Amino acid sequence: MLLLPCADGFRNRRVFGIPTSSRMVRTRVSCGRAICVRKGRLYTEDEARALDWCARFQIDESAFRHSREKLSVEFGQPASCSDTVWRLMNEALQRVSSWHERKMIYFQMARFLWEEKRDSLELRREAVRMELTDWKEKADMGLLDLKRVRLRVITAREASCADCRALDGRLFTFDEARSAMPVPVASCTNEKVEGRTRGWCRCEYGLSFD
Ligand SMILES: [Zn+2]
Ligand SMILES: [Zn+2]
Repeated sequence: MLLLPCADGFRNRRVFGIPTSSRMVRTRVSCGRAICVRKGRLYTEDEARALDWCARFQIDESAFRHSREKLSVEFGQPASCSDTVWRLMNEALQRVSSWHERKMIYFQMARFLWEEKRDSLELRREAVRMELTDWKEKADMGLLDLKRVRLRVITAREASCADCRALDGRLFTFDEARSAMPVPVASCTNEKVEGRTRGWCRCEYGLSFD
């Protein structure tokens, strides 16, 4: 049990500390409201999650707060932590210049939605499209022959769900992959728990030259 100084009238109230990872300690005060500890400070669960997401984008707390204030003015009402992170991710997307970086940001955006139990399939597909565009650009530069190369599906093998496993090693032409979008697998059930519309497919493409 921890004794933590805390704002909002919880000062010196006994709270229960449950370490869930090296970076995070979740506590629950007696009223049932969850608070989280980051770098020795207390945050609401929403704030803590938002700051964890910001850290992945090298955005610090003051930049997050500044962005939240700006968005609140724009909305004419307090912007949520989630909306602020979403705006920051969209801004990050505008800043990057390579297809690979865009792929990574779309991937993170999809994961963000997925965590919130919202449908993330379109953003997962967008991440794949960025990779396909990257290969297309390399082909236009004469670095890759898309007529000959095949896209091989790489799965998590035994750890995959049945639908993903069925695709393991399957080869697609570039055009097939682009039009049918077999990856990510829309029917994937990995990590699909109650309340989630979809699982989190971990399949990806590798280039096959034989
Ligand atoms: Zn799956
Ligand atoms: Zn999959």
